[in-house]
Amino acid sequence: MSAVTIRDLNKHYSSYHAIRNISIDIEPREFVVLVGPSGCGKSTLLRMIAGLESVTSGDIDILGRTVNQVPAKDRNIAMVFQNYALYPHKTVFENMAFSLRLKKQPREVIDQRVREAAAILDLERLLERKPSQLSGGQRQRVAMGRAIVRDSKVFLFDEPLSNLDAKLRVQMRTEIRALHQRLGCTTVYVTHDQIEAMTMADRIVVMNTGVVEQVGTPEELYDRPANLFVASFIGSPSMNLLEGEIAIEEGEIAIEEGAPCVDFQGHRLPCAPTATGQPGTKVTFGARPEHVHVHTDGDPERHNATITMVELTGPDRIVVLEFAGETIVAEMEKRTPLSVGQRVEVSFQADEVHLFDTATGNSLVSAPR
Ligand code: ADP
Repeated sequence: MSAVTIRDLNKHYSSYHAIRNISIDIEPREFVVLVGPSGCGKSTLLRMIAGLESVTSGDIDILGRTVNQVPAKDRNIAMVFQNYALYPHKTVFENMAFSLRLKKQPREVIDQRVREAAAILDLERLLERKPSQLSGGQRQRVAMGRAIVRDSKVFLFDEPLSNLDAKLRVQMRTEIRALHQRLGCTTVYVTHDQIEAMTMADRIVVMNTGVVEQVGTPEELYDRPANLFVASFIGSPSMNLLEGEIAIEEGEIAIEEGAPCVDFQGHRLPCAPTATGQPGTKVTFGARPEHVHVHTDGDPERHNATITMVELTGPDRIVVLEFAGETIVAEMEKRTPLSVGQRVEVSFQADEVHLFDTATGNSLVSAPR
């Protein structure tokens, strides 16, 4: 049985169609991240699962029960919000105890649950403090503590790390993942940050304008994006995308090294062997920065390019190049000396490149690679 099942879900805000026919199965203990640009409908979907937004059509099942008509408080879920929503005048202990007091739980039960949650979250020494006496990360932990004491099986997080500084965000990502594993719960987590999604998720749901573009593990989305939207949304620096056509030779698809190739501004670019396409079809060639190789040996078989910027990122370097009138980005180790203005050659790693139909955006490379 799935922990959360969403079937043919739709949400209309009067004439605006915010959620369009979404179906997803979330397995027990899975950590699923909903990611997409601002306004794509991630929070609306999460709030519908939580019971904070009504369903226009379709069904939401939680732990085998259809909950469309079940009030939020009876859905056996816990939600952690971006702004923590802590009570400023209550102590950490009372903030965590609040939902149990509402449910009129006995004092010993409340005490035990709050202390257990505080131990898990390393908040034991802070139980008598007020939220204003806590750091951002500690407040975030109290918000999670409130969710833990309710002993819910499904945790919902809505951009919980947006208010934290960069360093703390990285630390809290690890903490939330560890907490998820320790509690053995199912988690649905909303973020607009693809790096957060890539580092935390078992599976990612990429959303755009109310639809699901692709569902997959971080590796699947990175290695085999189903369309141009996912290809450009996932990955940083983002994938190089060059618009061209399937190359033709004497009226047939030009084949090089067993694969069709792309004609881009007179350059022949390689395709993955499983790429398909009709001669002359407008296509978009994709190569991640680590699959663009920069050479300085003057090999005429390769493509000429000029370096326009070199950025050090630590162990690697980001090299920005001008190639046939377009800007492309390569990521490479620090070893070779390179300078701005230098004329170099580039090649693309044929077994790692992507191909999309420019008109539909859909991938023309069949999986698996
Ligand atoms: P996200 O979380 O991905 O940033 P939201 O789920 O908050 O996006 O919003 C999705 C779309 O629905 C947006 O275009 C937003 O303006 C619209 N929307 C959200 N809530 C309401 C509402 N209560 N009334 C009308 N439109 C809304």
